[in-house]
Amino acid sequence: MLKLSSKKTDRTAIVTGAGGFIGSHFTRFLKEKGYFVIGIDVKAPEFSVSCADQFILADLRDIKSANQYIRHCNELYMFAANMGGIGYIERIHALVMRDNVMINANCLEAARLNGVNKVFFASSACVYPLFKQKSAKFNSGLSEKDVYPAQPEPGYGWEKLFSENMCLAYARDYGLYIRIARFHNIYGPESTYKGGKEKSPAAICRKIAQASKNDLIEIWGDGRQVRSYCYIKDCCDGVFRLMHSNCDFPLNIGSSEKISINSLAKMIASIAGKEIKIKHRLDGPQGVRGRSSNNTLIRRTLGWEPTVPLKVGMKENYLWVQKQIERDRFKRKLKETDNKKVGISIK
Ligand code: NAD
Repeated sequence: MLKLSSKKTDRTAIVTGAGGFIGSHFTRFLKEKGYFVIGIDVKAPEFSVSCADQFILADLRDIKSANQYIRHCNELYMFAANMGGIGYIERIHALVMRDNVMINANCLEAARLNGVNKVFFASSACVYPLFKQKSAKFNSGLSEKDVYPAQPEPGYGWEKLFSENMCLAYARDYGLYIRIARFHNIYGPESTYKGGKEKSPAAICRKIAQASKNDLIEIWGDGRQVRSYCYIKDCCDGVFRLMHSNCDFPLNIGSSEKISINSLAKMIASIAGKEIKIKHRLDGPQGVRGRSSNNTLIRRTLGWEPTVPLKVGMKENYLWVQKQIERDRFKRKLKETDNKKVGISIK
């Protein structure tokens, strides 16, 4: 059986979902700050080797695993979730709700039973009411107080709102130290870029990286939907600041820089140095019309807000996706050559 470190210091942390996009970046972030980090996930990171001191493969839907592994730490960061972009969460409601409620309930209970001092929960902008996001007009964004009366995203959004409330109940009833962030579209290198779980920045980067001059790029909806995107470096910084602040209510971590999907595609095309044309798939999943982060409360509470300009972060993102596309092409060619050698043709 895996032996866990028993040295519990101020700088010992457990990161759940450490095999995922934000969890693997945050593990690296904590290591750079000198933490001893234990990562837990059902899978290892896809694009790099985990920086965790110990990496445990475990399914946190199982209370026994949660109870066995969530201990001997001062800080617990809860990133584990069954999630994906709009094309994924719009289709799969029951599984996402069941998996995530189980993961979050088990982790909270294990933290309580095993004396974890500080708990962070990753919530989402999907908790905000759909009726407040019907307009794509550039407005002042979603404030934390906008969350009620509730009408979150079906499935995923309801689960996040429930789990936020479960966290707050653990704080009230058991005195657990809880910090909650509502992430707004986090993007950056090493996020899923293909396969169905990818989000709009990675998907558009992939389509543009694969395109030749004047190719048609497919965008879901009319492209006038408005979003704000927060770079992963800002996200890690914000999570750490929030965890060590006295803010015991949910806080947005997102950028207030708004952009329409059409303009985002144009921005990425200009980064790539490619001329592209946009084809709108009006029947495609497109989410709400307008969603962005209002940062008044985070500025007031933490004296900080995300700072990386979209164009700067998106360049890093595009270059990374482009590298993956080149690698995929190379692998495919290699496979074709190997198959030709043994007389197999692939379509
Ligand atoms: P991700 O899918 O890359 O990472 C989630 C990780 O959780 C995955 O590695 C997955 O294997 C793991 N996981 C799933 N089920 C598990 C289980 N039963 N036991 C253990 N691990 C399990 O997603 P992400 O983008 O890194 O998101 C991290 C957190 O932030 C999630 O809670 C997500 O809901 C939240 N969030 C992310 C965004 C965003 O824009 N990326 C926005 C809002 C909220």
